[in-house]
Amino acid sequence: DKMVYYFGKTKTEGKGGSKAILGGKGLNLAEMTSIGLPVPPGFTITTEVCDGYYKAGKKLPKGLMDEIQDAVKILEKELGKNFGDNENPLLVSVRSGAAVSMPGMMNTILNLGLNDEATEGLAKATKNERFAYDAYRRLINMYGDVVMGLHHEQFEAAFDKVKKKHNVTEDTEVPAEGLRELCEAYKAVYKKGTGEDFPQDPIKQLQLAIEAVFGSWNADRAISYRRIESAKGNTEINNLIGTAVNVQAMVYGNMGDDSGTGVGFTRDPNTGQNKFYGEFLINAQGEDVVAGIRTPQPVAQMAKWDKAAHKELMEIKKKLEDHYTDMQDIEFTIERGKLFMLQTRNGKRNGIAAVKIACDMVKEGLITEKEAVLRVPASDLTHCLLPSFKPTARNAADVLCRGLNASPGAAVGKLAFTAPEARERFEAGEDVILVRRETSPEDVEGMSAAVGILTSTGGATSHAAVVARGWGKCCVAGASEVEINEKGKTITVGGRKFTAKDTISLDGTTGEVMAGEVETQEPKLSGDFAKLMEWADQYRRLSIRTNADSPADSKRARDFGAEGIGLCRTEHMFFEADRIIHMRAMILAEDEDARRAALKKLLPFQRKDFEGIFKAMKGCPVTIRLLDPPLHEFLPHEAAAQKQMAEELGVKPAEIKKRGEALHESNPMLGHRGCRLSVTYPEILEMQVQAIVEAAISCAKKKIDAQPEIMIPLVGTAAELRILREKVEETIEATKTAKKFEGELNILIGTMIEIPRACLTADEVAEYADFFSFGTNDLTQMTFGYSRDDVGGFLPDYIEAKIVPVDPFQSLDTSGVGQLVEMGVTKGRSIKKKLKVGICGEHGGDPASIEFCNSVGLDYVSCSPFRVPIARLAAAQAAL
Ligand code: ADP
Ligand code: MG
Ligand code: MG
Repeated sequence: DKMVYYFGKTKTEGKGGSKAILGGKGLNLAEMTSIGLPVPPGFTITTEVCDGYYKAGKKLPKGLMDEIQDAVKILEKELGKNFGDNENPLLVSVRSGAAVSMPGMMNTILNLGLNDEATEGLAKATKNERFAYDAYRRLINMYGDVVMGLHHEQFEAAFDKVKKKHNVTEDTEVPAEGLRELCEAYKAVYKKGTGEDFPQDPIKQLQLAIEAVFGSWNADRAISYRRIESAKGNTEINNLIGTAVNVQAMVYGNMGDDSGTGVGFTRDPNTGQNKFYGEFLINAQGEDVVAGIRTPQPVAQMAKWDKAAHKELMEIKKKLEDHYTDMQDIEFTIERGKLFMLQTRNGKRNGIAAVKIACDMVKEGLITEKEAVLRVPASDLTHCLLPSFKPTARNAADVLCRGLNASPGAAVGKLAFTAPEARERFEAGEDVILVRRETSPEDVEGMSAAVGILTSTGGATSHAAVVARGWGKCCVAGASEVEINEKGKTITVGGRKFTAKDTISLDGTTGEVMAGEVETQEPKLSGDFAKLMEWADQYRRLSIRTNADSPADSKRARDFGAEGIGLCRTEHMFFEADRIIHMRAMILAEDEDARRAALKKLLPFQRKDFEGIFKAMKGCPVTIRLLDPPLHEFLPHEAAAQKQMAEELGVKPAEIKKRGEALHESNPMLGHRGCRLSVTYPEILEMQVQAIVEAAISCAKKKIDAQPEIMIPLVGTAAELRILREKVEETIEATKTAKKFEGELNILIGTMIEIPRACLTADEVAEYADFFSFGTNDLTQMTFGYSRDDVGGFLPDYIEAKIVPVDPFQSLDTSGVGQLVEMGVTKGRSIKKKLKVGICGEHGGDPASIEFCNSVGLDYVSCSPFRVPIARLAAAQAAL
């Protein structure tokens, strides 16, 4: 296989190539070259070589260095400079770049090709000694760090010494002579740390640098990043075979005050506004911007510094967006007034920006409505549903300072000072805000655990900002007034001290940092968001319902676009203080009469609940599941609570204890629950059905269109459903007669399919069902034989070891559990063509699972209210 792809004037071999092979950076360098943008030439070593490198026990494949030497020759010819030359040396960067971007997670080395003599040559050729030694010291530092694993601090210390000697504070103020001394000092650091001299042979430098980039593919932080991304549903990242390596001719942003370097987005990644959003630094190279060494200037001010370069950048923005028809994230460098493009990729953005950009691009004619629907990652819509601070609470808030509004949202939490601390406290259930001077890729685990991130240095494109935005996490960056004492675990702002016990509030939308807890509020769902939802609704086939047990939840879900309730869990209604007592009396009852007496007291509560929900959902179906959990869940387990219950019911505590013990089961989830309860205690079913029917009658009288669907849980045999359906029908008739109601109620009776046997015999079960609703939580539990409640003990290890690709309780296991679902649908519909089929597990709100539900012909998915918009969009994407 071809191992090296050249890009430049001579040829652009990677044009139209595969991202999987060339990596994102490599492919886009080739694309940009081919559309005529100013890109320094170079070549890409494929991801397959990386894969081969690992498979061969970390050895570069035979022939690779020859192919590389050939490519270097073309490069030399194009540029009229030679690698390792003592007069006018060719320098290159060696850059990582996988098929899915992993910002800052892997290594890059700049200015490769310099040695003692070549640096002299470069100084002469450019007539700029300061620049040449600046480049050399950067190389020794990066090479030492990346290839040899030396600590950055040792270099830093040497730099501080030189700065002190020359009485300056900024890197750019160190004179040429100082940089010359610095190179000597760095070489000494290098020798001390590695026991070798800094390598003077550029080809050797190149080979080791390539290996180091391959090595960074499996650095801890890169592995962590992939794990976190994969857990967030970015499963594409699991399929990568490695990183590509891009070797590219250097251009110099550090040649003086007419040079510089910058990064930016062609639109604002926070708000989506169509305005170039970026920063640049004069007289600086590559990573200086991201590392937050000096504070960069916004690109908006670039025209004042170099009008032509700014104009060209804006023209390139347009060219790039026309070519990629998407917002781009770019890197550029200006060498003595000439602009070069170093990178482009589709820019990460939060959900709010994604929606706005998609809608704007439709208006601008860049994409179609359909493309817009496909463009926004469904799960990112959560960002549009993010809370913000209540204006009144905000106005009254105790604002400590303002940083950069790096990633929007509202976060309230206690201070955590290191990533491990944030992780630990998060796991203990605390909401924490991670406070760091700046974050680095090593912090990602802690960043992912925090509710918000606050940094005191670094710009809007610093590591913290970029990562937080990708995750839709609230972040305030570069809040320079925040003094952090990491050891003492305190921050000081404006003379006030805060400790790990203190709560602060971050407004990622304005950049403000506030003392204490500021009250938050729910977002608005109009404008572009509503438009995108409208487009999505035109394309989807699945209807979207919600899981809700109260009128308030039902209403919220309706506002989000739910078209019915797919699962109303009645047991939640029994836990309120004024009801649980009757429930408990029912459980303690010795005989049917006593049970009926207790149930009679529960009836009015249930009727009222149902009426409220029918009203909130008028005109839409409401699936009500009859009592499901085992009865012991309703009894208190602590002695004190048992005593109190005994007093309330006027019985002996021992009696309660005894009943509790009698109800005890070894495997309660496989125990006396679901339809099994109704078989033993039909009076419970009767009470619930009576409440439903009475509520429906009451609605009918008020001309409210109630559409109840009665769902019998945990059915495993057709006989269960036959018997219980009969009971339900009898109760419906009896209630209508008692209420002297003669109209039609149209109540459907169906079952939840959550036991594998029900899927296997779905043709038999369907005979007694008007609808099926797959309860994929239990179905997953029973198919895998994993206890949902205890799975945390081993599932992370299983995911790590790739035994299962993702948590099957979050994303439907389509190859296993999915087969049962598909079989259930097919068999069910084989005897009842029009059988209504839906899903009501957690999976109903998961985009990948929704795609599956669409493909096997379900009629609807049902999910929690907050995921309804996500489900609407995911259903449209599945249908397109
Ligand atoms: P990352 O993936 O971490 O962004 P990059 O490979 O993009 O790493 O490089 C790091 C920095 O070095 C970027 O700012 C980039 O623009 C700069 N850089 C890379 N190659 C060159 C080059 N050939 N000339 C000048 N700057 C470069
Ligand atoms: Mg980059
Ligand atoms: Mg269940």
